[in-house]
Amino acid sequence: MDSVKILGVPFSTMTLPDTVKLIQDKLAVERSSSRPFHLITANPEIVMAAMQQPELRQIVEAADLITPDGIGVVLAAKWQGAHIPERVTGYDMLIRLLEGASSRGFSLYVVGADEETNAKAAAIIKDKYPGVDIVGRHNGYFKGEQEAALVADIERKQPDLLIVALGAPNAEKWIYKHKSRLKAKVAFGVGGSLDVIAG
Ligand code: UDP
Repeated sequence: MDSVKILGVPFSTMTLPDTVKLIQDKLAVERSSSRPFHLITANPEIVMAAMQQPELRQIVEAADLITPDGIGVVLAAKWQGAHIPERVTGYDMLIRLLEGASSRGFSLYVVGADEETNAKAAAIIKDKYPGVDIVGRHNGYFKGEQEAALVADIERKQPDLLIVALGAPNAEKWIYKHKSRLKAKVAFGVGGSLDVIAG
């Protein structure tokens, strides 16, 4: 896959529709890997933080696809004479995937945001996108045993898609930390998307 390196981070040069198509294909195939395809929609803050934090750098390097989440990334590519066609944000990816579920359904696990927001967003998704089968959900304020139970539940439910709204880069760190047990085909952080969906 073509990429443009910005401060060492390899950004995908795919458009939003092409990225959606790639992820739809990942969601549709038989589960072949024991760990999820980890998509990171990275904004300039993540790029800067990855330069300073070796732990985050490692997470970014291990990602399967990094998309430009912010006009700053698109412009940075331009300044170095390269071309990134457009922003590909977590919110846009999520909405397009949900919309596409009418013809290509998939199962979904929703992690993150406060309990009320999480429940409301899950109910709205269920209502608005019948092709999406929500197999589990959990708010983003958990610790200790609750976290262990959540990871075990995701492992058991094996969703096609796992979305994590814990804020960036916490979502990315969380997916990376539990990668070997998150039996989803695809996982990505969605920032404040659940708040937007819940309204
Ligand atoms: N969030 C969460 N648990 C936390 C911290 C944040 O579930 O420990 C949720 C928060 O409720 C919100 C989402 O993460 O729904 C995104 O938070 P924020 O807007 O701070 O993140 P950013 O937009 O900077 O990625």
